[in-house]
Amino acid sequence: MNDRPILWEPVRPFSRALVVIAHPDDAEFGSAGTIAGWVAAGTDVRYLVCTDGASGSADPAMTRERLTGLRQTEQQAACDLLGVSGVEWLGELDGYLEPTVPLRRAVAAAIRRHRPEVVLTLDPQVRWSETGYVNHPDHRAVGDLVLHAINPAASTRLWDPTLIEEGLEPWDVAELWLSSFGDGMDRVDVTATFDRKIAALRCHASQLNGWDPEARMRALAAERGADVGVPLAEAFTVLRFRALDEGGSESLRDKPPTNPKPQR
Ligand SMILES: [Zn+2]
Repeated sequence: MNDRPILWEPVRPFSRALVVIAHPDDAEFGSAGTIAGWVAAGTDVRYLVCTDGASGSADPAMTRERLTGLRQTEQQAACDLLGVSGVEWLGELDGYLEPTVPLRRAVAAAIRRHRPEVVLTLDPQVRWSETGYVNHPDHRAVGDLVLHAINPAASTRLWDPTLIEEGLEPWDVAELWLSSFGDGMDRVDVTATFDRKIAALRCHASQLNGWDPEARMRALAAERGADVGVPLAEAFTVLRFRALDEGGSESLRDKPPTNPKPQR
């Protein structure tokens, strides 16, 4: 871990990225500027949303069923705006996410199917913020889920042989990016993509209740950017498991993802 913030300078664009989040909007708040930058560089970015987002409303007239549909529409609109090429949903109940073994398998299957060089998720170590925010337990659960999906479930051949039967070979992720609500020593310059991030955030109208996120998000991004000498930045903790050009990953661009259906 770094002692001082460092500006991320990519070796080359990632071929594929998988963003694994608990709720619709989790990625837009902390990471949409970075995601838009990856897309612009040619990275194929997919989302895996673990819950249905059906608890996120204080409106007495709202139902879980209606909110589920609404939040899927909002997330899809944000992803279209960012250039994300696909969104998958696990449909777990919002507010009840646990890093269970069956869910670990589901996340590992997505990793094996998409074969991302980088996985982006939420930092499971965040329990609260000094400003009085108690982190949502789903946010911690999704971070743990991803850590344990990466290893052993995605990377170990015999962890669950039925994954192999489904045509899902093991996959080693090169980098894990943890988003922790503005903390983290790895900084990404999002000056060029900041407007797109705000537009993507505004897609989640059901969560904003008329609040315009721009001023708050701009102030936070400016603070993060000042640490590394750029106008606007997002912050992450990046774990690097292997160098990008090692382990055969250099030819990834030429290979299609594993066919999820068994071959006959
Ligand atoms: Zn959330």
